[in-house]
This record gives sequence, structure tokens and C-alpha cells, in this order.
Amino acid sequence: MDLQEFRTGLDAWLDEHEPELRAESGPDLTLDEEMEHLSKVKRMTYDAGWMRRGWPERVGGLGGSTLMRAYLGEALASRDLIEPGVYSMTEVLAPTMIEFARPELAAEMVPRLLRGDETWCQGFSEPSTGSNLGSLSCRARRDGDAWRVTGQKVWTSLAQYAHRCVLLTRTGSPESSHRGITAMFVDMDSPGITVRPIRAIHGRDEFCEVFFDDVRVPVDRTLGEVGGGWAVAMDLLPYERSTSLWHRGAYLRQRLGRLLATVPDGAIDPGDLGEVVQMVFAFHARSRGTQHRMARGERLGPETSIDKVLLATTEQAVFDLVADAVPTAIAIGDDADGDRWRTEFLYSRAATIYGGSAEIQRNIIARRLLDLGTER
Ligand SMILES: Cc1cc2nc3c(=O)[nH]c(=O)nc-3n(C[C@H](O)[C@H](O)[C@H](O)COP(=O)(O)OP(=O)(O)OC[C@H]3O[C@@H](n4cnc5c(N)ncnc54)[C@H](O)[C@@H]3O)c2cc1C
Repeated sequence: MDLQEFRTGLDAWLDEHEPELRAESGPDLTLDEEMEHLSKVKRMTYDAGWMRRGWPERVGGLGGSTLMRAYLGEALASRDLIEPGVYSMTEVLAPTMIEFARPELAAEMVPRLLRGDETWCQGFSEPSTGSNLGSLSCRARRDGDAWRVTGQKVWTSLAQYAHRCVLLTRTGSPESSHRGITAMFVDMDSPGITVRPIRAIHGRDEFCEVFFDDVRVPVDRTLGEVGGGWAVAMDLLPYERSTSLWHRGAYLRQRLGRLLATVPDGAIDPGDLGEVVQMVFAFHARSRGTQHRMARGERLGPETSIDKVLLATTEQAVFDLVADAVPTAIAIGDDADGDRWRTEFLYSRAATIYGGSAEIQRNIIARRLLDLGTER
């Protein structure tokens, strides 16, 4: 099946199944409802074959260009059938799992994520380790055929729903080095793991604190080399900063369209609108280029910090425009869409933080891409 056949077939299938794919509870879904709905959409699209396209056959996929899975995410977001944030975890975690897990482990686990049978989370950040990821201190010590993990992670998105975690641990010294980090794939129901949700500004328990108390992780769950966890992180972060955001761009276009369709004439300043439209399409163009580079088999790297900065600034600009156009919807949530504009506006403030803050992305662009010097 080529990309054009995929698009035509998928669009026809979505036209037919859209009523079943739409969330029953209306625009104001709780996070529990959102997660349940996502599982249903993934299961239906996987069982119909669409979700399997663009993923390798060795992990339950049907092969073909990665542009197919990009188009699937775009189509679902454009039709408002998924929330792009929770949907994107697959694009963040599955590629690295395929690259670094034992082939048998990837073959067993990845189909569960693709089909929505499982949710996974990403355990990187710690209370004193965010931007300076290389100094993480959650420790794993070797005990026969297992690791014993003790420490804490924080801001771990969706950990309360997660069945597995892609976890970065410190297995060697020196303490503040990129060396001596080991990545592993941890079952979240292992004894010794405690998950405490954190309420975010938009009223949702978006992320969690996760505590590890002498948690046993079999050694065959190691991802990549022992001591090679930094390479795993450097493989994963470019996906989080670029390809996983593609359908978020589609979602922003859809929400901008919704705004224009619902606000009274004259509520939006044409100059402000022009600027935001320009940003939305600049991100789209950049993100499209990145999708095509991945489809050609190119390795994504620090240049994806440009995608991340563009997405973050665009997302905030879109919802700043909403705040100017319908201030009461943002202030008190009284709109035909319920609380949705308000929730989205508040969540958009996080766009310059998650996946690496905007300041750090600009540092990477300056130092790694423009060769403007090193960290003092
Ligand atoms: C919605 C959301 C979801 C998240 N999900 C996850 C997740 O699933 N898993 C996970 O591991 N983490 C997650 N995070 C955490 C995220 O990766 C971190 O918040 C981010 O990397 C910043 O780290 P920090 O919060 O420790 O801030 P800090 O690193 O303490 O930074 C604080 C401020 O200082 C600035 N700063 C720091 N160092 C420099 C520097 N060298 N130069 C210039 N400015 C600097 C930063 O830009 C920032 O403005 C999530 C965060 C959010 C908001």
C-alpha cells in the first residue's frame, strides 16, 4: 500500500467509523475518560490495520513509510478524535524501544502500546534534575540477574495509568556525569514502586511523582548498553521534540479553525491573526520536513530543538489569541466548548517546559547547530 492509497482508505474508514470513534462524554473529558477513549481509538485503528502501518513487522507492524503513521495522527487530531498530548507518547517511546530493547522484548511489548492495551511513561526528570539530566541520581545496583532501583522521578506524565516505564538510572560514577547512566524498561506493578499524581495548573493530574524503593528489574530489561543510557536518552529526546509534535500541529490548526468559526466578527485583530497563522504554518512546514527526513531513514538529532521551539511558541500564540478573542472563556470557562479553551490555554503554558525547556532548546541551537560557543 502506498501513501496515497493509505490516505484515501483511511479517510473513507474514518468517515464511516467517526461516530464510534468520537468520545461519548462530549468536549469536557476527565483524564480518566481521555485515557479510556484513547485506548478505544488505538484498539479500533490497530485492529483495522491503520495503526500498524509505518511500524516494522518485527514489532507487530505492517511496514511501509513512517509517513503513514504521521498521517494517521494528523487525521485523528484534525477530526478531534484524540487529544494529541496523550496520543503522542507512542511516538516518543516506541521508536527508542524498537532501537534499544532486546528484539524479543520489543516484539512482545510494542504491539501492546500500539493497540492501546498498555500505557507507558518516561522516567527521566528528578526533583533536582531536569535540564541538567546528566546529573540524575536514581540509583540501580546489580544484584545477580537483576537491578535493584532506588530513587525518585518527578513530572512523569501519565504514570498513574502506566503499565511500563522507560527509566534512566545511575549505575556508575562519577555522580554528575553523562557516563554511568543505564536505561531500563520497568513494570510499573513491581513491588516497591509508589506513584503519587500531581495536580497541574489546568486542573488535571497530568503527571506524577514516582518513588522506587529497592525495585527489582531483571537485567534483560536493560535498554542498550550498561552505562549507555545517555545514548538512549539522546535517541528518544529528538522524537519527543519533533515527530511526536506533528499531530499537535494538526490539532492547533483545527482549534484555530474552531475559534474563527465561533467568535463574533471583529473579535480578533487581523494583524494578530495573520501573525499566528504564519506561525502555525511555519511549524507545519518545519515539522513536515522532519517527518520526511525520518521517512528517508535519517537519524534525528539536535536540529529537532528548532521544531520544539517553533511548536511551543506557536501553541502559546494560538491560545494567547483565544484569550484576546474570548477572554471570558479563558477566565471562567463559559463557552459552547465548556471548559476546553480555558484548559487548553493553561496547558499551553507548559509547552515551553516539557520535552526540554525553550531556554535549553535555544542553547542547543546556539551551541550545537550555530557553533556559538560552549557552556561556561
Ligand atoms: C507537562 C509536562 C510533562 C512532563 N512530562 C515528563 C515526563 O513524562 N517525564 C519526564 O522525565 N519529565 C517530564 N517533564 C519534565 C520536563 O522534562 C522538565 O520540567 C524540563 O526538562 C525542565 O526541567 P526542570 O523542571 O527541572 O527545570 P530546571 O531545569 O530547574 O529549569 C528551571 C528554569 O531554568 C532554566 N534553565 C535551566 N538550566 C539552564 C541553562 N543552562 N541555561 C539557560 N536556562 C536554564 C530553564 O529553562 C527553566 O526556565 C514534564 C514537564 C511538563 C511541564
